[in-house]
Amino acid sequence: MATRFLLAFAICRLIVTVGLTLDPTELLRLEVEGVLSVEPADLEVASRDFGGMQNAEPLAVLHPASAQDVARLVKAAYESGQGFTVSARGHGHSIKGQAMTTNGVVVQMSGSKVAPPRVSEKLMYVDVWGGELWIDVLSSTLKYGLAPKSWTDYLYLSVGGTLSNAGISGQAFNHGPQISNIFELDVVTGKGELLTCTEKQNSELYHGVLGGLGQFGIITRARIALENAPHRVRWIRVLYSNFSAFTHDQEYLISLHGQAATQKFDYVEGFVIADEGLINNWRSSFFSPRNPVKISSLNADGGVMYCLEITKNYQESNANNIDQEVGALLKKLNFIPASEFTTDLPYEDFLDRVHKAELKLRAKNLWDVPHPWLNLFVPKSRIADFDKGVFKGILGNKTSGPILIYPMNKNKWDAKTSVVTPDEDVFYLVAFLRSALENEGETQTLNYLTNQNNRILRFCSDAGIKAKQYLPHYTAQQQWMDHFGDKWTIFSKRKLDFDPKHILATGQRIFKPFF
Ligand code: FAD
Repeated sequence: MATRFLLAFAICRLIVTVGLTLDPTELLRLEVEGVLSVEPADLEVASRDFGGMQNAEPLAVLHPASAQDVARLVKAAYESGQGFTVSARGHGHSIKGQAMTTNGVVVQMSGSKVAPPRVSEKLMYVDVWGGELWIDVLSSTLKYGLAPKSWTDYLYLSVGGTLSNAGISGQAFNHGPQISNIFELDVVTGKGELLTCTEKQNSELYHGVLGGLGQFGIITRARIALENAPHRVRWIRVLYSNFSAFTHDQEYLISLHGQAATQKFDYVEGFVIADEGLINNWRSSFFSPRNPVKISSLNADGGVMYCLEITKNYQESNANNIDQEVGALLKKLNFIPASEFTTDLPYEDFLDRVHKAELKLRAKNLWDVPHPWLNLFVPKSRIADFDKGVFKGILGNKTSGPILIYPMNKNKWDAKTSVVTPDEDVFYLVAFLRSALENEGETQTLNYLTNQNNRILRFCSDAGIKAKQYLPHYTAQQQWMDHFGDKWTIFSKRKLDFDPKHILATGQRIFKPFF
């Protein structure tokens, strides 16, 4: 009863604040098995995200107990006379308010323990709730000696959240992004229907939702492909002072995707090291003081170094052969002699590596700071121009956080999904994962880093580099149309079919709701 009163109060407050004419009884009538909350603590969590740069308080937060709860809420929004919006929130790790909404309800997908993951050993898949975190997907499948094939670098992200983008890491050259490794989805559309979709069944919805930025439905279940989990990982980093040698080797390594498992690495990434970037790099604890090479002693090309990061998975039964297999692969590369850093660890520890860095940063109060991140897909044909103009130009020997760079094969991405990538067979992810710290000098402030991101985007546009934003953020529809290019027609048609009132994921600012 108290909750209902609070809910009515919150809705009335919203009506006054934003001038909505929503009838509070519409939400009050909603019967859910879970909890529809207006507790200040719930609203507060739903009004912020990892980016720390936007804030938007919803009307209420739904902690669903089932997919039907999500369907009931969206149906109520769809059928409501005045309308309200609904935004799924995975783990809130977006950076620009993508999972927020001011004039509606946030569905808190992660943390709602709706159904535990169910593994089919025979058919090699796992069925998971859309709000499940990847770390929990991993622990549940490892009990069967199985694991998903394609990952993100960090596992405290929700399945629905990464599938709404793509989900990429160093395995993508081989297995494609996470959205290329999904057999089936349950989705609540913007009309409140709960539909199962696959390549063949409701295929427009299936393809639309994958990489669809939450625009066509809320993923309540995903069926994820599995493989036999390796026991251990040989993790290697090697250095380059020459950009073209670095990219040549990265491109060579990803061209091996069709080879037998013993003849290719399992993960290919890399990062840029500009001045003290290595020392400040929160992923760099890997470089131990016992390493034979002093970074400062190396002759960096234009003050910038490049680190190739590769892994080879193996079963304990194959431990005797791993040195030989890795040695044969490394022989083909042209890194700086003696710049090899190697470690060996359990598969799970490798996959969960960024969480360790998170704990260290949290201990220093450096995790909950603004994150003006910029992620770009850069076509292979222009990556050298990007290096000259950005890594050796705009950055000015200051990185303020990790800068990842690694190539992927476009043929591992399904063109029918909603995600957009450059129009070349190979393209690079370049990820500027920077933290803004107001007291660490001018070059680390939010303002400085935001301006620098804008300069990078302007540089690409002036130089005719047809880069595409990954985890995109735009504020005007024309910019979205440019982003989607040829895919805009199908994207907007799918919106009309599956969310005609523009209720869902308004925090992406692609379509305005019709109220
Ligand atoms: P949220 O931020 O909560 O939501 C993102 C969008 O998806 C919103 O529009 C939301 O409405 C929608 N959404 C959420 N759940 C659902 C659902 N069930 N159904 C439909 N729509 C939904 N990305 C990579 O690809 N690779 C990486 O290696 C990687 N590393 C990262 C490391 C860190 C530390 C962080 C903070 C982010 C990283 N990301 C990476 C980005 C991450 O994939 C995206 O930010 C993703 O959106 C976060 O997932 P989330 O569950 O927090 O989603």
